[in-house]
Amino acid sequence: MLKIVTLFLIFMAVLAMFGRLRLPKITRRHGLPKPRLCKTCRRYNLRGGPCPHCSDGQG
Ligand SMILES: [Zn+2]
Repeated sequence: MLKIVTLFLIFMAVLAMFGRLRLPKITRRHGLPKPRLCKTCRRYNLRGGPCPHCSDGQG
């Protein structure tokens, strides 16, 4: 019974180590992309693709 407890503790420790190693990468992936400023109309393009304001025909 004691062996199972020790094994469980080791397993948890390994999981914690992996969690610490993986956490920063995951947080970086889930982070919101930086808002880009359109060079043509100088509005914020949050999607990061073609500017939605310029495609409306205003630019
Ligand atoms: Zn634009």
